[in-house]
Order: sequence, then C-alpha cells, then structure tokens
Amino acid sequence: MNIKCMYYSKQFQNKPKGYEVAEVQKGLSQTEITIEQLADDLSQGATFKPALLNGTHSSDWISQQLFALDFDHDTTIQEQIAKCSQLNIYPCFGYTSFSHTEQEHHFRLVFCTDTVITDVETRNKLQNTLISIFDKSDNVTKDCTRIFFGGKTLICNDFDRRINGYQIIDKFYKEPTLPITAKSIDTKSCKKKLNVYSNNQSNNDMALKVEAIKSLNVGVMRCLLGKALEVSTNKEGNISSSISVPFQYDLTFKCEKDIYSYINSIDLSEYLGIYGYVKCILPEHDDHEPSAHIYKTNDGTQVYKCFGCNKARTIIGITEELAGCKRSEAIEFIKSVYGIKLVESDWTVKQKKLMIDSANYLDTEDFKISNPELAKLIRTRKTDIQAILIHFTQYVNEDMQIDGKPFFFASYKTLMKVCGIREDNRKKLASTLVLFSLLNMVIKLQVTDIPEKELNEAKHIAALYHQKKLTGFYSFEEYGINSLKDSENIAKTLKANNITLKGLGREYILRTFGVDLANKCYPQYRFENSQGTSKKSDERTSQIVECLFYCIEQKGYATEKDVVYLLGDKYKYQTTEIQIKKSLQEILVSYDLKRIRANKDTKQLYHVECNGYPFIIIKI
Ligand SMILES: [Zn+2]
Repeated sequence: MNIKCMYYSKQFQNKPKGYEVAEVQKGLSQTEITIEQLADDLSQGATFKPALLNGTHSSDWISQQLFALDFDHDTTIQEQIAKCSQLNIYPCFGYTSFSHTEQEHHFRLVFCTDTVITDVETRNKLQNTLISIFDKSDNVTKDCTRIFFGGKTLICNDFDRRINGYQIIDKFYKEPTLPITAKSIDTKSCKKKLNVYSNNQSNNDMALKVEAIKSLNVGVMRCLLGKALEVSTNKEGNISSSISVPFQYDLTFKCEKDIYSYINSIDLSEYLGIYGYVKCILPEHDDHEPSAHIYKTNDGTQVYKCFGCNKARTIIGITEELAGCKRSEAIEFIKSVYGIKLVESDWTVKQKKLMIDSANYLDTEDFKISNPELAKLIRTRKTDIQAILIHFTQYVNEDMQIDGKPFFFASYKTLMKVCGIREDNRKKLASTLVLFSLLNMVIKLQVTDIPEKELNEAKHIAALYHQKKLTGFYSFEEYGINSLKDSENIAKTLKANNITLKGLGREYILRTFGVDLANKCYPQYRFENSQGTSKKSDERTSQIVECLFYCIEQKGYATEKDVVYLLGDKYKYQTTEIQIKKSLQEILVSYDLKRIRANKDTKQLYHVECNGYPFIIIKI
C-alpha cells in the first residue's frame, strides 16, 4: 500500500547543512511510496516530511498518514521500544539519525495511521498526543512542516503495523491550557499594520512581522506569532480571535544562559515569517532575487543568512538591524514578545555577586598587598581566571549546587574560548587550571562528587545547550585573605623552587605539597597508589640524592648543574633536569638540605668558583 508524504530521494551521507538544506527544501515533493521503500531510503540518507503539503508553510498542509517522533537526548532505543509495548502503540519502522552513537542514541520512530487524516486539527492533536505520551521525544515535531532528514540504519520494522489516531486521541489527549486569551492581543494595532500590506498572502506574514520588528511593537508581534492573522485574515483586514497554535507567553528561566540558549533556539522562520528562500529583508540590501533563508547551526542556533549580501544574523542580530536599535533593546523586545522572564532566587543573585566580587578582587591593591607573591605568580594568567569566573556567572542555577555552593561544568573547548587560548594549545589551559587549583582559586570536582539529582540536572542543561557530553566540573571558593592564605605560601614555595607553570606536574605537586594537594589538582589520579610516582622516576630521584651527597661530600655544596652533569650520560640531560625540578623539594625536606642563592660570603665559605651567584644546595 502506498503512503503519501513529502519526499526527497537524494541520499546524504551526513546531516545536510547550509546549501544542502535549501536543496532538500526545494527537492521535497509530493510522493506516493510504500512504507518499505521509504524506510529503506531513509535509513540510507533520503529525506521526508510525514505530511502531504502544498508548499512549505503550515497552512499548506493537505493530509497526513505518517507521524514521526524524534528522540535525541536522554533516552535509548531500547527504552522507547519498551515504551511502545507498554502503551501498545507501535511504529511501522524506526531509524537512527546521522548523529546517533552507541553512547548517545539519536533516532526516530515513524507511526502510520489506519486512515489518512485530512483535518489539520486532528493531525495536531494526534502529533501533540504522541509527543506527550512519548515524553522523551522532542516537541519540534509538533510542526507539520518539519523536515526529517534520513539517517544510518533501520532499528525496527513492522511495515504493516497501523495505529488508530482517534483512539489514541480519545485515550490520551489533554487539552492544552492556553496561557493567553484573545483579549490580550492588541488587535487594534494589528489591524492598522494590516492595512499596509494586503497583496501577497504568503509574504504577508513576513512583511507584517518585519514591520512589527522594525517598530519594536510587542503587541503586534505577539499577535502575529499567535497566528491569529495567518488563519483568518480577510480582505478588510479583520482578525478572527481564534488562535491555531497555543503561543507560549510565560517562560521563566532560572539563569541567564538558559535565556540566551532559548532565544537562539526560537524558530526564526516563525519569528520572521520566512519559509524557504525570500528576498533579503536587511535594510541595506535592495535584493531582487530570493537569496535569503533560515538555517540551523550544529548547536541549534537559528540563523538568517543572505547569500546576496553575505550577512548572517541570529534572532538578536536581525532584530537589532531591522529596528536599528541597541543589542540590549533587541533582547528586551524578544523577551517581551515571548514572555521570557528571568526569575533568580536570592541565592542565585548572591552567588553571582560573590563570583564577580572574587574576579574583581584580583584587580585590587588589597589583593596585591595581602598576597604579594601570589599576585606576582598569577600575573600572566589573572585574566584567564577572571574570564572563567565571569563566564560561569551566567550558569549559576539553584538546581546545581553542592554544599550551598554553585558548581559548573564546561568542556576544555569552551574554557579555551573563554580564556582566548588557541585551539591547539590545550596544554596551556590544563596548566592554568592546575595552577589555580593548586592555589585554591578553582576547585576541580569529579563526576563522582556530584550527587545524582544534581548530575541529572547538569545532563539536562548539557542537552539544552546541545553539548555532547559533560566534561570538567568546577566550583569556586570566595576569594579573600583566609581562603587564599595557603595560596600565598604555595606561591612562595614555587618561587623559591624556581618552578615554571610548565613544571607543575602531578609528581612535582605530590613531592612538594603532599598527596592531598596533588589529588586536588589532578583529581583524576586520586585512585592511584598514594605515591603516585612511577618506578622509573623513583629510581632517578634516588640517583639524584646520591649525586647531591657525593658533591656535598667532595666540595661542601652541590648545584643542579652538577647533578645534570653527573647523571646526564645515564639519563638524558633534559630528563634529569625535569626530574630535579619534580623531586628537589621532597629531597630537600627529606634529607635536611636547603637551596640558597650564593652571595659573596657564601661563595667564599663554600669555595664556589664560578661567575655570578648561583643557587647552591647545602646541608642545613
Ligand atoms: Zn541580503
């Protein structure tokens, strides 16, 4: 039996991007196809829209028999197959999408109704019902114009399987609570604007929205997004109060980052009324060809792109440019239109302030006076830690706290961007984090430190920001004299040992400051043996000790150069130098030795015969 849907047969190897998306959008056409064939093609990269459409707009919907659900986070194929049997609602096939991996299952399930649905209200009810009962599925599929790209493999097939849409609606459908009533729509100003444009129905929506954005008219924009106009505009410009799509009006967020993430994920096609290619709407481009369209970046950000003037704009950017307003005004406008509110608890406000204060503290005289060595030590990396602190303030979230303190997660890539470190220089970030961890200015947390509830919240947030995985976890102690007391001493020791940031290996920290600090800076090693050192380096260390004592016996003192010279043949010179740096502090403490810079008197005392005033190692 053939099914009607929108279909494009070209088989992609990867998820279509940029131009390819435009190509797919153009290539999708009304097709009659068997479910077997469709399933087979989709699992090899072809593309479809489950609905039969007469264009690209939701008002072009004709009929539908296939209903697809998209699963892209927080679930597995097995879990959803089990859910199907629990609900007794089975797909006729499913396939993994391009981004599917063993660790993160990304897949689609496609259901087929026993009769063709020709009434859009039933279609919407059924799709929304399926989304709500398969609660791990993505609600982007509520859009009847949604494109489903193909993928890699079929995960199940039962091609003759059908679902009874009406029964499912009867059993599971819940009336959505409309947060907005027709009354609250500013119909008066909508009408006024409507008179401006009445020519082309399909461009009407876009023209109205562009006008509303240009004048930053929240009322009109809300009205247009409520879709009142699209459904029932007649020639006189009268507006029916019916709303075909419930429009979210009150969205509260607990942290600013969630707001930006949400804003960037707003359906830009809907916001601008742009579907497919249109003439550029940017004020400075007098476009005569349809050269602009909307696409989605890998992280889910929606972008307006014009190939004519070669400009790309996010929802904030395009609002700024159309309205000729400031960025902050554009953001305020978008927030008002979508009813976006930041509701921060007192705790959140306080934690953010503490972090900003900590960042600022490092610039104060107070800090330099109280912690002179520390201030000198971190001089070249200070802005990195400040940038990291400020970056994380956006993510302070009540649901992510341990012992009353907020914690954060970020990938190396993110933190490198935050600190302006080049992508190929991971080592620099690693050493920065070790340094600040040693100085108690960053606390590195392990996944195993995070309670399950908080970890789940972190996973949820990672999914929201389209992050593939959770990486490093961090928290911060408020900076001040007491929290940095040890840090000043550590800075002194590092200086006394002439340690560069490159030398801050685990072994050095272990030998110099003990196992607790080593575990703090390198928490990933904390389950290793408590020595944490390799046999080889232990061997080298004892050779160094022997050399030191040999020299001291011979001439009363030793220098690091002596040791390098004596051991250089056996181990490479450089290896020996590094080993000395790592082990010296431990050796000095363990063997009652000290390292001092020779002056005129000591040079005479120990008969140091060389130019300058080198560091020498002597018995206490
Ligand atoms: Zn343009």
